[in-house]
Amino acid sequence: MMPHKILIVEDNENNRSLFRDVLTFHGYQVSVASDGQEGVALARELMPDLILMDIQMPGMDGMTAGGILKGDPATSRLKIIALTSFAMRGDLEKFLEAGFDGYLSKPISTRELPDLVKRWLQEEK
Ligand SMILES: [Mg+2]
Repeated sequence: MMPHKILIVEDNENNRSLFRDVLTFHGYQVSVASDGQEGVALARELMPDLILMDIQMPGMDGMTAGGILKGDPATSRLKIIALTSFAMRGDLEKFLEAGFDGYLSKPISTRELPDLVKRWLQEEK
């Protein structure tokens, strides 16, 4: 069986490496991008099974990048999870409205991340 492909789009280098290492250890084929523009390009190229998309990034932010992918019929069915440190009420609704498939608040537990990823991958679209 081919490993699931996961794309991590995150500007923070420490987070990016940590998530990549944890998910690679759990058998996923992981790619990384450091801003929204690179993330959109890699998503189009790789068509990953799951994208973990940081929201706050310099340059193109995650909301914009997610919107571009969800607005393009070629990539609109990609599963995208928003990673955010916003603690504002109503965020979940905002992300779901923007087409995101889920939402994860930082700090992200690396113990829980593999189980969450597994669950998102199993969810029907
Ligand atoms: Mg960030």
